[in-house]
Amino acid sequence: MTGRLTVVGLGPGDDRYLTREASDALEAADALYGYGPYLDRVPAQAAQTRHASDNREEGARAETALRQAAQGASVALVSGGDPGVFAMAASVCEAIETGPEAWRALHIAIIPGITAMLAVAARAGAPLGHDFCALSLSDNLKPWEMIERRLDAAASAGFVIAFYNPVSRARPWQLAKALALLARHLPDRTPVIFGRAVGRADESLTVTPLASAHEVAADMATLIIVGSRETRLIVCEGQAPLVYTPRAVEGAMA
Ligand code: SAH
Repeated sequence: MTGRLTVVGLGPGDDRYLTREASDALEAADALYGYGPYLDRVPAQAAQTRHASDNREEGARAETALRQAAQGASVALVSGGDPGVFAMAASVCEAIETGPEAWRALHIAIIPGITAMLAVAARAGAPLGHDFCALSLSDNLKPWEMIERRLDAAASAGFVIAFYNPVSRARPWQLAKALALLARHLPDRTPVIFGRAVGRADESLTVTPLASAHEVAADMATLIIVGSRETRLIVCEGQAPLVYTPRAVEGAMA
């Protein structure tokens, strides 16, 4: 009997953001693994075991899930947003690459989910209408100097930039530094979007010019999108402004 490991993206919030493919995979699993608050989003099923772990234990969690799958079980490993974006799918691949040969015979499937960047962008308008990139501001897995180099390169190349993991208790100063660095490339009026807990009951969205972005509070549940020179606001009466990046670069189509 060959086991199965499915890495399931839950989307950014409650089950309205769960795809049908993801909920079918969750239902079919013998065992569920994941960070506790993510597992709490999945409805309980009598015949299914649950294994909650801490947020920082991705590698160990992937290995434990693979070990159980190798015994013939159908295991689902859950991830917030999309499992391929700064999340568990890469941890599973790493574990398979370095683990026992037998793990390569398992059925592995990755089920996509709506990543935070897309959920926040949709709330704000269409900030990702032209070229963009995504960066994790966490320097747990790469040196801070590399993040600075990438920020410089991305801003000078004209990308809209999404920041995942902007702040944590252990990383209090990095976001202000990153914003200051971008201010060297971009006009003060550049729109910056802060989306917090998007798709959840306590969701909030703030749009501010780059010049005052450092005044906005952000935490681990916040995703930030910094516009490019092209990104602009449309003021809409009685409603939040629409933030968008035109699909064509000005002058390019002449
Ligand atoms: N795999 C996840 C990202 C994991 S990294 C995904 O695809 O969304 C964790 C970071 O994602 C957080 O620090 C935050 O920047 C962002 N994030 C996750 N869920 C979010 C939500 N509901 N609203 C805003 N940002 C979120």
